[in-house]
Amino acid sequence: MTGPDGPAGPLAAEVVTADVVVLGGGVAAHRAAVAAGEAGAGVAMVYAGSGASPKLICFNVPVVGGDPRDSPAAYVEDMLRGGCGLNDRPLIEALAADTPAALAELEAIGVEFVRRGSAYAVRHLGGSTYPRGVFSPDGLGPSAIRQL
Ligand SMILES: Cc1cc2nc3c(=O)[nH]c(=O)nc-3n(C[C@H](O)[C@H](O)[C@H](O)COP(=O)(O)OP(=O)(O)OC[C@H]3O[C@@H](n4cnc5c(N)ncnc54)[C@H](O)[C@@H]3O)c2cc1C
Repeated sequence: MTGPDGPAGPLAAEVVTADVVVLGGGVAAHRAAVAAGEAGAGVAMVYAGSGASPKLICFNVPVVGGDPRDSPAAYVEDMLRGGCGLNDRPLIEALAADTPAALAELEAIGVEFVRRGSAYAVRHLGGSTYPRGVFSPDGLGPSAIRQL
């Protein structure tokens, strides 16, 4: 390796002390860091990039402005079908049940979502029986990372 001190010279280093070190810079890492911080831990995040998270356009939340026939159960069935039945059903049931709370949490910290009147505007993503993709005006991923 070549550095300012020549081949194999010492790299610049900074010593950081923390109770919890979160590796990664996507939405999962940022949410984990927030949770650790809320539990009273001093948190350091270590990452070289934000992974796929800046690409996030929208996320699926059943029954927030879409088709009245939609439901968490319909969302689960869509995910099972998309995953060819290989999914972990309890995990996707938990995901489907928790998405309204996740939406509320993101709004509470300042992530803006597009609305049509009093309802959320929703996009119809591939694999979804009903339109249920809520989205932000300037991209959900960048906005969520910024606010987290
Ligand atoms: C083009 C594209 C569009 C997408 N659109 C959507 C969408 O609209 N809606 C949706 O719900 N999902 C979408 N997804 C999927 C979504 O982006 C991911 O599911 C989500 O961002 C995953 O978040 P994450 O924090 O787990 O991972 P990531 O955001 O990928 O973060 C992983 C982190 O781990 C770090 N890392 C990886 N390996 C190591 C290592 N060995 N050591 C240290 N750090 C490491 C990376 O640098 C990164 O910081 C899309 C994905 C892509 C690629």
